[in-house]
Amino acid sequence: MRLTALSAVTAAFVSQTAFAQGFMTSPLNCSGPIQNNVCTRPSAQWVYTPGIMTTVLDHSLVRNGNGKYQYGTVNDGGGDGKIVAFNGETAHGKPGADVRCIAGTILLRPAPNLPPMTNTAGCGPNYASYDEHPGYDYVAGYGSPVLAAAAGTVVDIRNYPGGPFEYCYNSNFVGYCVNWGWVGIDHGNGYISQYGHLSSIHVLPGQKGIKQGQVIGFSGNTAPPSAGHIGPHLHFEVLKVVNGQYLVVDPYGWVGAPGADPLYSKALAPPVKLWK
Ligand SMILES: [Zn+2]
Repeated sequence: MRLTALSAVTAAFVSQTAFAQGFMTSPLNCSGPIQNNVCTRPSAQWVYTPGIMTTVLDHSLVRNGNGKYQYGTVNDGGGDGKIVAFNGETAHGKPGADVRCIAGTILLRPAPNLPPMTNTAGCGPNYASYDEHPGYDYVAGYGSPVLAAAAGTVVDIRNYPGGPFEYCYNSNFVGYCVNWGWVGIDHGNGYISQYGHLSSIHVLPGQKGIKQGQVIGFSGNTAPPSAGHIGPHLHFEVLKVVNGQYLVVDPYGWVGAPGADPLYSKALAPPVKLWK
């Protein structure tokens, strides 16, 4: 009897682990032929080239006093002047400077099997982009369909007591995130994916039964000027629930040197490759 119970527990653990790893698909589709890694859909809109991004998740991000991962500037107290990508590439800013955008050499490799990308937008062609950035910014033409990376339920919460009901976690903002065109989907396995800067949203707070690949909205440029004007893009981030806290996790995992990932040393959610 005890053996049976133990087996059930072990099976549940294995199932949960298998489900957590490799359960997500791309939140954007080209919806047309891809030639030389470039989407050739003829329409000026809906153009998305898989993997092209303007900034990566910064593995050196820290939580500020407000518990958020704020875009790093010296003035707002965030940022360490360094950007670390999931493959260990690192870029440094000038000490004392506004480190929101860091000039550097991160090649924005979106995945180990894709060629390095250079930054084509944002704060300049030679920048590694945002310090303390808690997600990935994919270049996407205005109005590109944004797809649920996995099945789940739309988040329905208040970001602060007395605040409005929202459908996203403000992982990196002091105020509320819905103004930034954000939507979160709880996948029911301890992970939540969030989609930012949408020009329109086509799900409702608390909506159940969201299917993997379902269009949840369309890309846009709904970021305030203080965040910089970097053009239409999709901000994609993943949170993991750890002891009731919603912690940023890198869905690309970590492929840099073993033990060298700063995320592991800061009591944040360890990165795990979550792509199918
Ligand atoms: Zn972003």
